[in-house]
Amino acid sequence: MNEKKTIITLNEAKELKKKYPTPFYVYDEKGIADNADEFIEAFSWNEGFKEYFAVKATPNPAILKLLKKHGCGVDCASETELLMAQALGFKGEEIMFSSNETADREFALAYKLGAIINLDDITHVEALEKAAGVPKKICLRYNPGGDFKIDGQIMGQPSEAKYGMTRAQLTEAAKKLKSKGAEKFGIHAFLASNTVGNDYYPALAGLLTETAVSLEKECGIEVEFINLSGGLGVPYRPGENKCDVKKIGEKIRNIAVAAEKKYGRKYKIFTESGRYMLAPYGQLVSEVIRFKHTYKEYAGLDACAANLMRPAMYGAYHHITVLGKENEKPSVKYDVVGSLCENNDKFAVDRLLPKLDCGDIIVMHDAGAHGFSMGYNYNGKLRSAEILKKRDGTFELIRRAETAADYFATFDMYEEFDAYTKNK
Ligand SMILES: *Cc1c(COP(=O)(O)O)cnc(C)c1O
Repeated sequence: MNEKKTIITLNEAKELKKKYPTPFYVYDEKGIADNADEFIEAFSWNEGFKEYFAVKATPNPAILKLLKKHGCGVDCASETELLMAQALGFKGEEIMFSSNETADREFALAYKLGAIINLDDITHVEALEKAAGVPKKICLRYNPGGDFKIDGQIMGQPSEAKYGMTRAQLTEAAKKLKSKGAEKFGIHAFLASNTVGNDYYPALAGLLTETAVSLEKECGIEVEFINLSGGLGVPYRPGENKCDVKKIGEKIRNIAVAAEKKYGRKYKIFTESGRYMLAPYGQLVSEVIRFKHTYKEYAGLDACAANLMRPAMYGAYHHITVLGKENEKPSVKYDVVGSLCENNDKFAVDRLLPKLDCGDIIVMHDAGAHGFSMGYNYNGKLRSAEILKKRDGTFELIRRAETAADYFATFDMYEEFDAYTKNK
């Protein structure tokens, strides 16, 4: 069982609102740090283990610095994410570059920074060589095709995924790279998303270990690490299972011990967890501002899908707590909606909640990963602030809310917008 706790109380929300109007995101420093420690501890048996936090999940400097302090590297997928990593002092192999449809300038920057480059496709061998050069250490992204099953159950459909190379392409790429000077290799795969059991990472570790051994034999190369990428899930619904990272770590250890016995080979384990590292430790806070009764009961918020897109995009469930009404009976069925001119702008459909009033403060749980970062500006909506609740209970603004001036900043060639774009 997991209880859904809010990071802030009603009183704290009221105080914060005076300075930072809703909607805003709050993150829990202690939760993030303790969880990162526990995660890394689960793999401490593996020499060279590294978690490369997937920057796209929560690209905020304060969060990335906190994770860095706790031993994490970063996984970047674009030029801007690389620049952010560089600015925050991530160096060389503390950066994994797992991109796809990669532009030349992105390869060039990743190479310059000494990041570990994870090639998504066989054609990227030449593209990388042309754009930058062939590094001594390089990673290859594997897509085994078909369905990815664990105990007969389909976990993911690699055959429908645009990522990674076929098994034959792995061999070809490794041979080519070796002939061009690459000396150490890694193998990466991402085959299922938001998995809440304890078997996904171990099954993947088994597959990648076997692949590494056979690739070493075929190509005469040395594989240094296997990269399990992201895919660990979190319980979005109350009562759902939570991954047990200690168990996951132990299961992978058994696989590693068996591989060492059988093949005499040991590999470093890398991960690129995003959701597992951050989702439970970030929440979107907003206010109920309107009600509407037509064929259904609507509760309208000052937040919208531009602040948190997952429900609109995937029909994802985000648990809702009404601050100050935690102990009231959920007695009214609402569609909880945002203000976009899009009918999918619904945070919840037919959700039973305590009777709401205007001014009620709503907390949307498990929004710490792939939440703020998916935000966009449709309907001229502005991105919200992000606030960190520190260990000592104080609050720090870690990103200010966008203003109209930010929205108009790219119109600086129009004098009609001078009031916004000049002398701000
Ligand atoms: C999105 C992504 C991740 C993070 O995935 P989570 O599901 O958040 O753990 C890691 N690696 C790559 C290459 C990704 O695209």
